[in-house]
Amino acid sequence: MRRTDLANGEPRASPSAPAHTCVSSLQFTVTRRYVVRTFGCQMNEHDSERIAGLLEHDGLEPAENEAEADIVVFNTCCIRENADNKLYGSLGTLKAWKDQQPTRQIVVAGCLAQKDRDIVRERAPWVDVVLGTHNVHRAAQLIEEARTSGPITEILDEAVVDDYALFPSALPVKRETTYRSWVTIQIGCDNTCAYCIVPAVRGKEISRPFDQIVDEVRSLASTGVSEIFLLGQNVNSYGRDLSLASRRAGDAEVRVAPQFAALLRAVGEVPGVRRVRYMSPHPKDMREDTLLAMAETAAVCEHLHYPLQSGSDSVLAAMHRGYTAQRYLERLAQARATINDLAVTTDVIVGFPGETEADFAATMEVAVAAEFDSAYAFIFSPREGTAAAEMTDKFCDPKVVGERYERLKVVLDRTAVMKHRARIGRIEEVVVEGMSKKHPELTTGRTRQNKLVHFSSPEQLRLGTYARVEITDAARFHLAGRLVDVVAEPTHKTRLAVASA
Ligand code: SF4
Repeated sequence: MRRTDLANGEPRASPSAPAHTCVSSLQFTVTRRYVVRTFGCQMNEHDSERIAGLLEHDGLEPAENEAEADIVVFNTCCIRENADNKLYGSLGTLKAWKDQQPTRQIVVAGCLAQKDRDIVRERAPWVDVVLGTHNVHRAAQLIEEARTSGPITEILDEAVVDDYALFPSALPVKRETTYRSWVTIQIGCDNTCAYCIVPAVRGKEISRPFDQIVDEVRSLASTGVSEIFLLGQNVNSYGRDLSLASRRAGDAEVRVAPQFAALLRAVGEVPGVRRVRYMSPHPKDMREDTLLAMAETAAVCEHLHYPLQSGSDSVLAAMHRGYTAQRYLERLAQARATINDLAVTTDVIVGFPGETEADFAATMEVAVAAEFDSAYAFIFSPREGTAAAEMTDKFCDPKVVGERYERLKVVLDRTAVMKHRARIGRIEEVVVEGMSKKHPELTTGRTRQNKLVHFSSPEQLRLGTYARVEITDAARFHLAGRLVDVVAEPTHKTRLAVASA
């Protein structure tokens, strides 16, 4: 039997055996340990925090790696290319790990599990628990049940709307950072972008109640969290499904449609919150009141991730994006006119089915005109289960697409360097994220415009410190500088499992 919680060579006493504790023949208890391996986006990372929080709430402890763990959880993503190959490869490797000790458990959660369902067990019968995107809150229970009843696959077709425990932030959470927290405001997506698998695996859009979000932010701020990252698939349509909800305003009960702009203002006004960010907005739903809320709420950062995807109207229509290139640029100009010193980043897909040279030229034109601070350019690759994956007769020649991608990168990189150079000589406020990985003698921070700065500092600064830095140099992906002064020391406690109100 594995003894994983020996303290100073002695077993750690446990007054009562929690659900995940093994009782040995020597009458001492051994706490089981877990690791969570996360693939994909911030939503998945936050789901993983939640799984970790649930397991720790149930008495498990984190392990450094698989060798020390009794449970390995894969929180999967099906957006990235080859996600399934990577998952099944990892599961194959773990089979020997499980064979060494049959009480070990393997869990597959997330989008790929939601999409593949029974296929996971067909391809890897040694997996103990398969759960989807709508029942992450059941992770600890299912793991425990599988210990006695054998392998379990539990995939729900949709979220239970009146169960707000379905929001990642509404359950015990093991936060990965101390000064910054993700807060889920919405799950699912009602759009039908032709290349995207999210609506199929995350379900319809459900907004989290306004007051619950603000209460959670207050609770986080009271523990010293100073940066709030609001998460959703299409945040600026937040609240549409809550249109008949009521909430208190002072002494009165008012029936309102909470909107994203109001949420930004409310979160930004919580004492102790210095920065508010959000991800991701949809250009078709970007409203003037959101831009005004960004401009008028001091804590909301001057950064807008504004996914273009294509500059061609016919490709945008084939993608079902719901805007034209002109409307995109007009709204972008409005955003820049409304929000002082706004940084804009974007996503662009090259080689969507049917993209012609003229379509690509239109994308290049918008990329030049938009002057993005940085951009994620992707070569289209079909995702099984999406409309675009069916457009096989329109797939573009990979060689042509590769050349287009390189041409686009030249434009995007040139603009990014230009934007970064324009900041040389300025004093920027950064929040300290740690030491530079490449140059450990330098400190790394992030500006309000979401730019990384590697800077020299005569003193070691704690994670979460706010400091002013003079920008002395610029490159494509980062700025360089030197410390001017410290603006605010961090007040957060060390890592805690946090359960929101
Ligand atoms: S808005 Fe489009 S790209 Fe974003 S999650 Fe919804 S369907 Fe996918």
